[in-house]
Amino acid sequence: MAFAMTSRVPYKAASGRSVRSAAPARIFQRVRAQAMDNTPKEYRSESAAATAGLPITTTPFDDWKFTPIREATVSRAMTSRYFKDMDSYAESDVVIIGAGSAGLSCAYEISKQRPDVKIAIIEQNVSPGGGAWLGGQLFSAMVIRKPAHNLLNELQIPYEDEGDYVVVKHAALFTSTLLSKVLKMPNIKLFNATAAEDLIVREDTNREIVGGGKYIGGVVTNWTLVTLHHDTQSCMDPNVIEAKVVVSSCGHDGPMGAHSVKRLASLGMVPHVPGMGALDMNTAEDKIVNNTREVVPGLVLAGMELSEVDGSPRMGPTFGAMFISGQKAAHVALAVLKKREAAAAAAAAARKVQTMVTTP
Ligand SMILES: Cc1cc2nc3c(=O)[nH]c(=O)nc-3n(C[C@H](O)[C@H](O)[C@H](O)COP(=O)(O)OP(=O)(O)OC[C@H]3O[C@@H](n4cnc5c(N)ncnc54)[C@H](O)[C@@H]3O)c2cc1C
Repeated sequence: MAFAMTSRVPYKAASGRSVRSAAPARIFQRVRAQAMDNTPKEYRSESAAATAGLPITTTPFDDWKFTPIREATVSRAMTSRYFKDMDSYAESDVVIIGAGSAGLSCAYEISKQRPDVKIAIIEQNVSPGGGAWLGGQLFSAMVIRKPAHNLLNELQIPYEDEGDYVVVKHAALFTSTLLSKVLKMPNIKLFNATAAEDLIVREDTNREIVGGGKYIGGVVTNWTLVTLHHDTQSCMDPNVIEAKVVVSSCGHDGPMGAHSVKRLASLGMVPHVPGMGALDMNTAEDKIVNNTREVVPGLVLAGMELSEVDGSPRMGPTFGAMFISGQKAAHVALAVLKKREAAAAAAAAARKVQTMVTTP
C-alpha cells in the first residue's frame, strides 16, 4: 500500500464536512509497526505474507541485502562509459552497420584475424540480432546448409546433422552465442538503438586515399527514436563516426533495411537498386557469398542487403549465406583497411618530405 507523505491538509469528507486528515506519515509508521511487530517472523516480508498458510521454503537467497549505492553513482557508471566509448569510437577502423547474422559474423571474423582493429557496430534496433532470432515463418529451428556449419563447430553450437544440412534447435541459440562472443571482444563496441542515417562521402581530390573520386569515410548516426521523428520535429542534427572502412549489412528492404544501397543509388554511386529477386534457395545463398564485395571505395556489402543491389534471389529461412558472407566481408574489409593504412602512411611520408623541402 502506498502512503502520501504529505503534511496535514484539510479535505472534504463524504458527508461534505471539512475535516483535518490524520498525519499520513504517522499512519504509515503505525501500520508498518503493526505489520512488523505483530506478524510471525516468517510472514514479515510482503511475499511471505502473500503465501500465508503454505510451507516456507528455505533458499540460499533468504535475508538478501544488496550493498548500498547512490542513484547518481548508477547514472555516472553508465554515462561516463558511454561517452568515453563515443569519444574513442568517433574514429574507428571499421564501422559495421547492422547487427544481424551477417554483421555479427563480420565483427567476429575481423576480431579473430586482427584483434587490434577498432570496430563500432551501429544497430538501429534496441535488440541486436536482426532476423536471426527465429527460422522462417516465425518457427524456432535454424536450417544451415553445409559447409556453413563449420562456423557452428567453431562456436561450439550443437546441431542435428541431417546430411547435406544441419539444424540448430533454436535460431536464438546461434544468435545469442555469436552475440556473446562479439560483445566480449575488447576492440568492439555495439551502439544499439542507434541508426545509420547517412554516409560520409568524401572526394579524394589529391588522389591520396583511393586514387581519386568519391569514397566512403564513415557514417552519420542518430538515436533511432530521433531518426523516426524527423517528420514531427525539426533540426535534430545527427552525430558522425569516421571509419577507414564501412561494412553495410542492413538486411533486405524494409522500414530501415537496405539503407546504404538505397542511399548510394540516390547519390548516383551505384546505378540502381532493383530489389531482391524471387525465392530460389540453391542460387540465392551462393550468390550472396560470391557477390560479397566492396561496392564503392570504402564500403563493403554483406548479407541480404546485397540481394537488393544485385537483384539476386531471396533464400527464405536458410541462414548459412549470412554468416559466410559476413566472414568474407571481414576479409574484404581487412584488405581495404590495409590499403587505407598504406595510403595514409605514404601520404604522411610525402607531407613530411614536402615540409623538409619547404622549411629553410
Ligand atoms: C520472419 C522472417 C522473414 C524472413 N524473410 C526472409 C526473406 O524474405 N528472404 C530471405 O532471404 N530471408 C528471409 N529471412 C531470413 C533471414 O532473416 C534473413 O535472410 C537474414 O536475417 C538476413 O541477415 P542479414 O544479417 O543480412 O540482415 P538482418 O538479419 O535483417 O539484419 C540487419 C540488421 O541491420 C539493422 N539495420 C537496418 N538498417 C539500419 C540502419 N539504417 N542503421 C542501423 N541498423 C540498421 C537491422 O535492425 C538489423 O538488425 C527471414 C527470416 C525471418 C525470421
